[in-house]
Amino acid sequence: MRDDNCIFCKILNGEIPSIKLFEDDKTFAFMDINPANPGHALVIPKYHASNLLEIPAEWLMATTATAQKVAKAVQETLAPDGINLLQANGRGAAQSVLHFHIHVLPRRNEDGLEMNWGLIPGDMAEISSLAEKIQKALT
Ligand code: AMP
Repeated sequence: MRDDNCIFCKILNGEIPSIKLFEDDKTFAFMDINPANPGHALVIPKYHASNLLEIPAEWLMATTATAQKVAKAVQETLAPDGINLLQANGRGAAQSVLHFHIHVLPRRNEDGLEMNWGLIPGDMAEISSLAEKIQKALT
């Protein structure tokens, strides 16, 4: 369930302090100490899995449900212009803590955060061809 070398497991164990927002039997939500925007929060399962590919579905569902709960509270509290739920898997995706987590990131118009990739139409043939390959992996 826990990894002694994981910083988020240490938060769960109370070995490292955190600014707690919420917890239930399966999940824990707390403030990110390097907020990309005010109100930036993190939601984690009380189960050590490094990323989306490793986490059992029941823990994923619980974490997602708590992320929705936190997002609603952030919306009510900060009235941001929008909220991104973000989740990184692997160093190549800029994951820095290898314990599954969902960022709840309030957004403001013109906040300048560079994570919007815009709506640039894709090549439909390429999209369809990739879809077929992914569909095969889903069956
Ligand atoms: P990621 O880069 O997607 O793996 O996100 C990890 C996040 O964890 C970063 O936004 C860090 O700011 C945040 N973080 C790392 N250590 C702590 C900590 N002790 N308390 C709160 N947030 C943390």
